[in-house]
Amino acid sequence: METRLRFAPSPTGRLHVGNARIALTNWLFARKSKGAFLLRLDDTDIERSTKEFAQGIEEDLRWLGLEWDEFARQSARLDRYGAALDRLRKADRLYPCYETPEELEIKRKVLMSRGLPPIYDRAALELSADEQAALVAEGRTPHWRFKLEGVAIEWDDLSRGRVAFDGKALSDPVLVRADGRPLYSLSSAVDDGEMFVSHVIRGEDHVANTALQIQLLQALGYRLPTFAHLPLLADERGQNLSKRLDSVSLSGLRDDGIESLAVTGYLAHLGTSQAADGSEDLGALIDRFDITAFGRATPHFDSNELERLNARVLHNLPYELVADRFGALSLDNADEAFWLAVRPNIRRLADAVDWWRICYDAVTPVIEDPPYCLTAAEMLPSEPWDESTWASWTGDVAAATGRKGKSLFHPLRLALTGLDRGPELKHLLPMLGFQRAALRLKGGAA
Ligand code: GLU
Repeated sequence: METRLRFAPSPTGRLHVGNARIALTNWLFARKSKGAFLLRLDDTDIERSTKEFAQGIEEDLRWLGLEWDEFARQSARLDRYGAALDRLRKADRLYPCYETPEELEIKRKVLMSRGLPPIYDRAALELSADEQAALVAEGRTPHWRFKLEGVAIEWDDLSRGRVAFDGKALSDPVLVRADGRPLYSLSSAVDDGEMFVSHVIRGEDHVANTALQIQLLQALGYRLPTFAHLPLLADERGQNLSKRLDSVSLSGLRDDGIESLAVTGYLAHLGTSQAADGSEDLGALIDRFDITAFGRATPHFDSNELERLNARVLHNLPYELVADRFGALSLDNADEAFWLAVRPNIRRLADAVDWWRICYDAVTPVIEDPPYCLTAAEMLPSEPWDESTWASWTGDVAAATGRKGKSLFHPLRLALTGLDRGPELKHLLPMLGFQRAALRLKGGAA
């Protein structure tokens, strides 16, 4: 039996890190088991779904590197949901209800005020054909509910262990709205069944849906997938992430210069006992993936930790993986030597631009000790220069001036770069070249 997983976002907003974690987990599971990964847009909510959000989701997933093998959108499958409803009707598992939202609300309040769970009372099942006809004549159109069986519903959840619900304690779910449109519980169960989804990995906010969908899948004669419900992410203070979407949306992180590898590395380890080290690409994450490694506690998304990981990812990033992004930063001539020299000193890729300017544009040098810098300038060897030039030059300067350590090096760094810290000067010096280095040591902007 093929392993098939799906990510089923609703295109009613941009993806945030919580969604991305679910997408990544499904993708890693599929890749690890050499199975298929489906992207399915749950877009039956036509009021809130937009084409722009759908495109945004695809863009975000591609940015993360989570390519999909199959694609579907629910709005193109309405006939399948209609066919499933016919089967449920024939099996006497679907019934029309005529209550207005206000009437349902009153029923709920009455039950709650008596301390009872707000379970739908199935009053609609008692309606005779005449009563139904009268309600229709009154201008009411029915919504349709699935008739649950009052039995135990249990499954072995890959994340939560054994989960049990009592069918009698659940409300019959509405599957079709009064305007005829199918709702998520139905469309999702039909799709999972017809697309032969073998594993459903989603957030724990869907646990109760799973109980309903298990009965639905069974009533429709589909094979049951294996379920895993992961704890939802909270922010550093324990708040729901959806409250601060700007700072946790994938597009926001991308615009802020966060690397996709930092996001995938961070999310793949979040909620497990291990931390990301910034060295792992998606292949490495696949190798180490284990769905049972996620704990039951609420994981906290910490943007400072993601920042730190972002720097480590950049420090590890090979030139081949970054070269085609230099053009967008107007660094077309940045070569491997430049990249290897500056990558330990950046926290965002765009920071490389500052170092490029320091190497190749005018910089105002900081001259703390003019005579010393002048002496050093006069001792600069002639070109060609390479990585050994710095050591031999500063060796000569040390011998001539008696300086060592900070007093030897620090004034040179300030003069050559205008800054008191940065990449190793043995890498920078050959990029600066004789003319520029000599001029800066003498205090000239070059
Ligand atoms: N569209 C649903 C959501 O975004 C899908 C949940 C699921 O079945 O995975 O929450």
